[in-house]
Amino acid sequence: MDGSSLYADVVLPLTVAPLTFEVGAELAGVLRPGWGVVVRIGPRKMYQGVVWRIHSERPSFSTIRPVERMVGSKPLVSSIQMEFWEWIASYYMCTLGEVMRAALPAALKPEGFSEEEFEADVFRPKMQSWIGIHPSIGSWEELNDCFEKLRRAPKQYALLVRVADLLSGSGQKDPPFPVGKTVSREAAAADGVLLGALVKKNILIVEQREESVGDPSAFTTRMPELTPAQTVAEEALREGFREKKVVLLHGVTGSGKTELYVRQIAEVVARGEDVLYLLPEIALTAQLIERMRRFFGDRVVPCHSRFTDRRRAELYRQVEKGGGWIVMGARSALFMPLPRIGLVIVDEEHDASYKQADPAPRYQARDCALMLARFHGAYALLGSATPSVESWLNATSGKYGLVTLKERYGNVPLPQVIVSDTLCASRRGERYSHFNKILLDKIEEALAARLQVMLFQNRRGFSPYVECGECGWVAGCPHCNVTLTYHKRENMLRCHYCGYAVAAPRLCPACGKGEPEAKGFGTEKVEEELQRIFPAARIARLDRDTAVSERRYRQIIADFERGETDILIGTQMIAKGFDFSRVVLVGVLNADNLLNYPDFRASERAFQLMTQVAGRAGRRQVPGEVVIQTSQPEHPVIRQVMNGDYEGMARRELAERHSFFYPPYCRVISITLRGRDKTLLWRAAARFGELCRPVFGRRLLGPEAPPVDRIREEFLVGYTLKIEREQSFARARKLLAGMLEQLQAEPEYKHLTVVCNVDPQ
Ligand code: ADP
Ligand code: ZN
Ligand code: ZN
Repeated sequence: MDGSSLYADVVLPLTVAPLTFEVGAELAGVLRPGWGVVVRIGPRKMYQGVVWRIHSERPSFSTIRPVERMVGSKPLVSSIQMEFWEWIASYYMCTLGEVMRAALPAALKPEGFSEEEFEADVFRPKMQSWIGIHPSIGSWEELNDCFEKLRRAPKQYALLVRVADLLSGSGQKDPPFPVGKTVSREAAAADGVLLGALVKKNILIVEQREESVGDPSAFTTRMPELTPAQTVAEEALREGFREKKVVLLHGVTGSGKTELYVRQIAEVVARGEDVLYLLPEIALTAQLIERMRRFFGDRVVPCHSRFTDRRRAELYRQVEKGGGWIVMGARSALFMPLPRIGLVIVDEEHDASYKQADPAPRYQARDCALMLARFHGAYALLGSATPSVESWLNATSGKYGLVTLKERYGNVPLPQVIVSDTLCASRRGERYSHFNKILLDKIEEALAARLQVMLFQNRRGFSPYVECGECGWVAGCPHCNVTLTYHKRENMLRCHYCGYAVAAPRLCPACGKGEPEAKGFGTEKVEEELQRIFPAARIARLDRDTAVSERRYRQIIADFERGETDILIGTQMIAKGFDFSRVVLVGVLNADNLLNYPDFRASERAFQLMTQVAGRAGRRQVPGEVVIQTSQPEHPVIRQVMNGDYEGMARRELAERHSFFYPPYCRVISITLRGRDKTLLWRAAARFGELCRPVFGRRLLGPEAPPVDRIREEFLVGYTLKIEREQSFARARKLLAGMLEQLQAEPEYKHLTVVCNVDPQ
C-alpha cells in the first residue's frame, strides 16, 4: 500500500475506542466525518458505525480492514452533535461508543453476525409517492391536448382531472399552471395501474420521498393570555435573557410555568429555530403533549423511550432538517439532531431522573442540555417549583438570571400543610395501623364530598422486610446484601436490586418454629389497610409493580382523572407534573424515611418531594390540604415545607454544604470497584488508594463499603473524590483515568470492574 492511503476512525456502539479502517478509492473524497458506514469486525460480524476522523496515518497493526460502504444519503451525526458527544465522553469519563449507544436509536446502529442478519436490521425510511405533471407540459393548453388524447380512457381521464384539480387548488378562478408542484398519491387516491399508464404516456411523473412525520410549516395559534403576575414574570424573563444566556424560572406549583414556556417557544419557532424541551419521563404525559399540540400542532415531536425503534429512527431522520421543531422528551431527547436550537427548556430541572445512573454514559441531562445550548448559541430556561440548590446558587450568584412566580394561577391558594406527629398520635391512641386519626378524618371528609385523595409512600411492595419473631431471622437476598421485600398479592419475597424472587416461607427457615412477620410498610400494604378502613372507596395504586406497561400506567392515570377512582396511592410516580382538578387532599405517610436517608442530598430531596406532592392538592377553586405524618415535626425541613419556604431551605442547605465541603462547593466523582472475590477486591481498593494518595491526598475519601455492598454476587467498594471548584476538573479526570488504567494493567486486577460516576446523584 502506498503512503497516500486514507483511513477512517470509526465509532462503534462498543466500549472500545474508535477503530481504524481503510477508505477505499471509491469512497475517498466522498466520505466525511459524521457519516454512517458499515464495517466488518472479526470474520463475520457486521456493524454500523460513525466516521469520526479521516486521516492518512497508517495504524501499526497489520490487517487493516476496509470500510465496506457508506450508509444513506446524508450524515448520521451533525458536527455540533459530534462536538457534543465528545464533550460527554470526556466529562463523564466514558468512550464515544458508549455515547453512541445512548444517542442513536437502535435502528440506526444495527449490528449482526452475518451479512444477511445485518441487512435485515438496516433502517429504511418509509417512502411516499408524490405525483406531479410531466415537465414537458408547461401550460394549461398543453395539458388540454393530453385530455383530448384520453377521451377513450375515462378512468385515466378522471385521475388526471383529480390530480390537476388538487395541484391547482380547486375552486380558484384562472389558477396559474402548477409548475413543479406535487400531490401525495394518497391525497389523489391514485390507483397504481392508472397512474402507471399516465406516467408511461409522459403526462404525469411520480417521485419517491421519505414519509414525513409532521409539517413544521403548519402553524396557526392563539397564545395563552397571561395573568398580571405572569406578565410581570414574562417581562422579567425577557429582561433576564437580555443579560444572561441561562435563566432559572422559580415558580410555585400551578403558577403557569408551562404557559410561559409556550410563549417563549412561539417566538423561537417563528424565527425558524428549533426548541428542545426536556422533562422527566414520567412528566411527559399525554395531557401535556395534547396541551402543546393545541398550540403548535405537528411541530411538536414527543420522543418517548417507549416508542418503537423504527418510530424513533424516523423521528431522528425527520427533525434533522430543522425549521421549527419542538422536540419534547426525557433525557435521551438531547441527542435528537436538531440543526438550529434557539431555546432549550429543562422543566422540573431539580429532578433526579435527569441523571442516568447506569449504564455509561452516566450523564446529567440538565447539565448536558446547558452545554448543548452553549454549542448552539441558544438560550436556556430551567424551570422548577423547587430548584436544585446547584441551580439556585448559580441564579443567586448572578451566573444565571432568576425569575420568580409566587402566585398560583386563578389565585388558587397554596395548599395548607398540616404536620401530624406519629408518636404523639400513638400515645393518645389516635393511630390506626399506619394512619393518624387526622389523616383518616380528612380522607373521610374528602370522600363524603366526592373529591379525590392522593397518598404518597416512597416504598413499593407490601413491607420492606420479613422477620422471625422467635429467632430474629430476616429474609435476605442470596445474591445481594439487602433484605427482601414482601409482595403480598403474589405472596413472594422480591429483591429490588437484582429481581430475585422466592415464595414467602410460612415457617422460619432458620429455627423452624417461628412464623416470619411482615415489618414496616409499602404502597401495597397501605392500599390493603385503607381498603379495610374505607370499604366503599375506589382505591388505585401507582408504582412500578402496577404500572407494568405503558397502557396500565395510562389507564391508572386516566381512571383517576375521570374520577373513577377516589384515592390514588403511589411512590414518586405520583409526584410529577400531574394536573388533577379534583384532588383536595394529599397525604405523606412517612416523612421520616425521606429525612433519614443516608445521603448529603437527603434534606433537599425530602423538601422537593414533599413540596411537589403537596402541589397536586387544590389546583382549582377548591383549596387543598396536605397532611404530613412524621415523628420529627420539629425537623427544619418539615417546617420549611409547611411554610413553603424554599429560600430558607436553600440557604440552610447551602450553608451546610459549604461547611462540609459538598457540591455545589466542590465536584465529586465516585469510583466503584466490583468483583466476586471480596479479598481481592479490597486488596485492589487498597492498591488504588496507594496510587491515588500521592496525587489527590485528602481529596480522596475511602475505601468504603456502600450501604448495599453486594449486588448480583459481586462485592462493591467505593471511593469518593472531591475536587475544589478552583482546581482544573479536566486535569483531575485525566489523572484519575490514568490511575485506573494503571490499576487495571496489573494482571491480578484485570478482571475487576471499575465504574466512575461524575457528579453522582
Ligand atoms: P406549573 O407548570 O407552574 O405547575 P401549569 O402551567 O401547569 O403550572 O398551570 C396550572 C394550571 O393553570 C393549568 O391547568 C393551566 O392550564 C392553568 N393556567 C395557568 N396559566 C394560565 C393562563 N394564563 N390562562 C389559562 N390557564 C392558565
Ligand atoms: Zn426463626
Ligand atoms: Zn438481589
